[in-house]
Amino acid sequence: MASEFRLIADHFTHAAPRTLLGVGDDAALIRPSRGQVLAVAADMLVGGRHFFMDADPVAVGHKALAVNLSDMAAMGARPRWATLGIALPRADARWVAAMSRGFMALARRHGVDLIGGDTTRGPLNLCVQIIGELPARQALRRDGAKPGDDIWVSGTLGDAALAVAAGMKRIRLKPAELKQARQRLDRPQPRVALGLALRGVARSAIDVSDGLLADLGHICERSKVAAVVALERLPLSPLMRRHRHAPAGLAALLGGGDDYELCFTAAPARRAAVERAALRSGTRVTRIGRVIRAPAGVCSVAVVDGDGLPLAPAQRGFDHFG
Ligand code: ADP
Ligand code: MG
Repeated sequence: MASEFRLIADHFTHAAPRTLLGVGDDAALIRPSRGQVLAVAADMLVGGRHFFMDADPVAVGHKALAVNLSDMAAMGARPRWATLGIALPRADARWVAAMSRGFMALARRHGVDLIGGDTTRGPLNLCVQIIGELPARQALRRDGAKPGDDIWVSGTLGDAALAVAAGMKRIRLKPAELKQARQRLDRPQPRVALGLALRGVARSAIDVSDGLLADLGHICERSKVAAVVALERLPLSPLMRRHRHAPAGLAALLGGGDDYELCFTAAPARRAAVERAALRSGTRVTRIGRVIRAPAGVCSVAVVDGDGLPLAPAQRGFDHFG
């Protein structure tokens, strides 16, 4: 790309106060804090697949970093550095400037330095790598859940997926509702502060990127346990409350992705500590169920209704998102 160096100089070179050597050399140099281990994750956003090709580039930049920050939150890590690999069909400086604004605004808010990356011509695609740090033994892993643990979730669930369902004409939203749902889909707010506050409190955690049941299922599989979730306890936005009885609404709630809330487990004895962590991080949390022993070794997630009866698979809406 002829203007690759121009793009890098104009849009990807920023102050990196927490970095020994940032953009401009063959590699960046970083120094982890004493006693901390590094947490490393990468998430790719493909144009036309993870975002609409005509999506607001500010939102694309925001989301590319947000989904990575969410992985740090889910580990209880403090995000510190990011790299950004980007393929562009053409050197559209205005698009890149707007995308970079969205990316950097969120990076600054979380104290993350952009320390390098790659810029090339190709199908629109952003690959962010995030590096955070944490005390090794306080990592919120997927494999720490124990039978008897409470299951918690932050924020509200399903709103982002309502926007997707509306786009696929599976549900009708009023213009104001669609705007609200799109806000959740396009501008996820990663729960970094909550993840940090849950260090030493939660026993396991994951971020809800693929849907509550799928992601809680990952905790169960890694922890070799099962889970029971109470449908009536799930935290709903006013928007979701209006649509939860539609099949596509229930499917969004249980199986829809892109919420980027945290789902975590903690011993019942730590309920007060969880509430304090929520308060300290300014994040709502809701207790939605319980971890149980895996019946016959099956690490399943059951959803029960108000009468305690399990929902049939069709009711859970998997068919809508398979
Ligand atoms: P090289 O060919 O040695 O990989 P590049 O020309 O690709 O060097 O990159 C020059 C510098 O700009 C490097 O420090 C690289 O990390 C940085 N860089 C390139 N693209 C990006 C980007 N999209 N975001 C942040 N830094 C970038
Ligand atoms: Mg390069």
